[in-house]
Amino acid sequence: MSGREQKYINEAFSTNWIAPLGPNVDAFEAEFSSYVGVKGAVAVSSGTAAIHLALSILGVTNGDTVFCSTFTFVASANPIVYQGAEPVFIDSEPDTWNMSPQALRRALQEAERQQKLPKAVIIVHLYGQSAKMDELLSICKQYEIPVIEDSAESLGSLYKGKASGTFGQFGIYSFNGNKIITTSGGGMLVSDDEALLRKARFLATQAKDPAVHYQHSEIGYNYRLSNLLAGVGRGQLEVIEDRVKEKRDVFERYENALSHFATLSFMQELEGTYSNRWLTTLTVAKNKAGITPSYLIEVFGRENIEARPVWKPLHMQPLFKNCSYYPHGENEHVAEELFQTGLCLPSGSNLSNEEQNRVIQCLEESLSLPVMA
Ligand SMILES: *Cc1c(COP(=O)(O)O)cnc(C)c1O
Repeated sequence: MSGREQKYINEAFSTNWIAPLGPNVDAFEAEFSSYVGVKGAVAVSSGTAAIHLALSILGVTNGDTVFCSTFTFVASANPIVYQGAEPVFIDSEPDTWNMSPQALRRALQEAERQQKLPKAVIIVHLYGQSAKMDELLSICKQYEIPVIEDSAESLGSLYKGKASGTFGQFGIYSFNGNKIITTSGGGMLVSDDEALLRKARFLATQAKDPAVHYQHSEIGYNYRLSNLLAGVGRGQLEVIEDRVKEKRDVFERYENALSHFATLSFMQELEGTYSNRWLTTLTVAKNKAGITPSYLIEVFGRENIEARPVWKPLHMQPLFKNCSYYPHGENEHVAEELFQTGLCLPSGSNLSNEEQNRVIQCLEESLSLPVMA
């Protein structure tokens, strides 16, 4: 927390606005849309809820397919299944680790031949790095497929000067506890289409028809953010630029200290993009010493340092074992390769220099020492 959140929470208490919706929600939505540069935003209870609303508004239903990045957290794809539709997973490309334009094109060509084009494409911007949007959007446009950007991890990131999450029909963000700013739990759905946003507000508040009595003609959800948590969000949004800077500093210190190790490659920032560096991620090349990410995670663990593997691709998940998947190339499975070699380092924006030096030292030592059997 920045300390500024308390003011907005106190306002909610002093005016007795302890409710879903209220002045903090309205203000948070207005401040958020002006920050990312869109016509409007709907504050919701989670990023997952925001994806679900987007799919629901795009008419995704039983028997449909939705294309989704395979290299992501499970919440990107779960709402596809909530709608009774089937996810089709698209591999990453090596530059950004995000959706591969060539795999997407192949998947769409095949879907067209089978007369089964997807209802939507969910493009994820992982770890703050923007996907190759120019390429991906032009392919989706060619087939007239709407795009949902999962920017849960990329608030504060830019692609060619424009905020991540503002390129598709919908963008979604998450304020879960692990994200760059948090409301403990919460999310945001953004769009430039005000009619779509009105529909989102309607569906997120139980789809009440305009009548005095309780009348419903559509299935709705209880997905709105509470006025208290929106207060936390307002305080957090005021410091987003500081958080991005802190995260980028963390990344830079790691890279400066460790990039001379030939086995390590830090996630690159695609030219023309600006990453919030939500997590410092790198790959550990296969090496003679046998040092792998899982070995390093274990060594860190002994030092009470928490490092983690990167996301396990969704097409490798037991949950999605029957779903189709399109690799980057015939024998190029980029997300699978990243899963074998990827590592996330401790990247909290409140990581002290001392703490970070301890992580760096631990990594230096384990890379210099022979691996114990
Ligand atoms: C966190 C996250 C989500 C889900 O957000 P919640 O607010 O936790 O529901 C979706 N996609 C990605 C890529 C995420 O990291």
